[in-house]
Amino acid sequence: MSNQSGVLFIVATPIGNLEDISERGRRVLAEVDLIAAEDTRHSKKLLLHLGITTAMSSYHDHNENAAAAGIVEQIKQGRNVALISDAGTPLIHDPGYQLVKMAHENGIKVVPIPGASAVITALSAAGLATDRFIFEGFLADKQTARRKQMQALAGEPRSLVFYEAPHRILAFVQDCVAIFGEGRQACIARELSKYYETIKTDTLANLLSWLEADENQRKGEFVIVVQGSDEIFEDGEEEAIRVLKILLQGHPVKQASTLAAEITGLKKNALYKLALDLHKQNQGDQST
Ligand code: SAM
Repeated sequence: MSNQSGVLFIVATPIGNLEDISERGRRVLAEVDLIAAEDTRHSKKLLLHLGITTAMSSYHDHNENAAAAGIVEQIKQGRNVALISDAGTPLIHDPGYQLVKMAHENGIKVVPIPGASAVITALSAAGLATDRFIFEGFLADKQTARRKQMQALAGEPRSLVFYEAPHRILAFVQDCVAIFGEGRQACIARELSKYYETIKTDTLANLLSWLEADENQRKGEFVIVVQGSDEIFEDGEEEAIRVLKILLQGHPVKQASTLAAEITGLKKNALYKLALDLHKQNQGDQST
């Protein structure tokens, strides 16, 4: 038995197109002593394609604790282990958290091998803001709970990323229209990297009509990106208007918005836009 601990590799695998495995990922999978896979039968196809014969063990949601302890023990004995999931990056809405946590707790080196993940792949092509985003994964199955979750995100300014299953995609987009509004921009990214890959960005209302009109667009795997809310003021708009109206009586628009930002703590750019609107309105009122 070796006294030197092995390494835990977290290896991203393709989300559809088998060419999307990295050279490094392929090498690590071939070189490790064991591959812990979410579904060994599923991953066998990938390993066969890659010509890899490394032994596999199963690591999934239902045996996570026991399997993690077993794997950690093996690594402590000097074996190198790679964790893979059915598709994409392990732990991104896939099993692995317990194992990585336990590895850290046991001083085991964890080496991630980056690669595909549906969330990042969709964001890269959606044509929506990607500087800040929130990944929400799958929302609740039941409509009431799902709408409640969406409601809590309605004022969120960052882009929202969801995963969704084909049997719920229509209901999901219907709920998006009801909660985020018809005019909000969104992207439906379907079957990424696969034959039927479709990436469509439009208003939620148009996306819903498009899905309703074509049953084929409701098949496969989905990522939905919804543009963040541009309601910059949320609860503070009334107060902003009150303060700006007073300030505009004695100050030009720019100065009024700077002062209003200091008074209210709200964003200067947004206040400037609002001040311009109020100023124009004011001029309109005076000329009539
Ligand atoms: N670990 C994976 C990753 O890194 O993206 C995600 C696994 S999660 C259990 C599976 C979900 O990811 C699917 O139901 C779908 O929402 C999304 N997904 C996975 N592959 C996809 C693809 N090729 N196109 C669109 N969405 C995909």
